Amino acid sequence: MFVPMKVIVDEAYKGKYGVPAVPGFNEIQIRSAIEAAVEANSPLIFLTGNRGDPHFTHGLVQRFADEVDIPVALCLDHSPTFEDCVMGVRTGCSAIMADRSQLSYEENVAQVKLLAGIAHAAGISIEAELGHVGQGDNYAVDGVSALTDPQEAKRFIADTGVDCLAVAIGTAHGAYVGTPKLDFDRLKAIDEACKMPLVLHGGSGSGDDNIHRACTMGIAKVNIVTDILTATYRAAQAGDFSGNSCHQFYPALYNASKAAVLRCFEITGSTGKATYKVKRILNMYDTASTKEK
Ligand SMILES: [Zn+2]
Repeated sequence: MFVPMKVIVDEAYKGKYGVPAVPGFNEIQIRSAIEAAVEANSPLIFLTGNRGDPHFTHGLVQRFADEVDIPVALCLDHSPTFEDCVMGVRTGCSAIMADRSQLSYEENVAQVKLLAGIAHAAGISIEAELGHVGQGDNYAVDGVSALTDPQEAKRFIADTGVDCLAVAIGTAHGAYVGTPKLDFDRLKAIDEACKMPLVLHGGSGSGDDNIHRACTMGIAKVNIVTDILTATYRAAQAGDFSGNSCHQFYPALYNASKAAVLRCFEITGSTGKATYKVKRILNMYDTASTKEK
């Protein structure tokens, strides 16, 4: 069932587990991940960008999601501009991530608050980022700079009305150069201050134990892209697809992608957690009626 992302992250936060957010850029990734989620009885979040034909890709997610009973959300990842965020709303995402983490606090709040109003009026969720999660190939610098301040995070949530917040606690995007070190004391302080679902970006290569532990401490969504793409790429490299075996090429990609997603559920602790009932939700935010009060 296709649902606003808030449904999934709220349940995960209450249950002290995380839900993997995995690449949903093409049909192989989308179908294989949904099959994995059904098999594992796990909620699932897809990440997308407005690349190519977003109406088509986002429509695929909705169509396949509505064929199964488990909750599935689709989040526009790191949307950089106002226009891009609105396109995500228009093309059927059930969440947008408005990343203004490189702006000043005031400018981040101003832009995210405006977009939160738009997202909630459309019945979908919004994630933002405070502090800044950098790049793994620049980890020596990015891994320790711009970490999230707990009290500022609390204020940011109140100032913007976001549904969940991406925090910088020592992870980074892409493949790491150097060993990632997560600041669990900081995560604990952020969780105690915010008491709402937090998001970990740069989950790939951050260490299974680290991720699992973070998911018991307030992280309700873990973005994992590079690990899944790498597993798929390795399957392509490892197989012999010459001659008539070429017919096995796409099934090999599918199976590798599915296996990698299944592994993510184990790491974040979401296996078997799709037990809550969801039904089609028109607008859980009810912005029309709250405005009149
Ligand atoms: Zn990210």
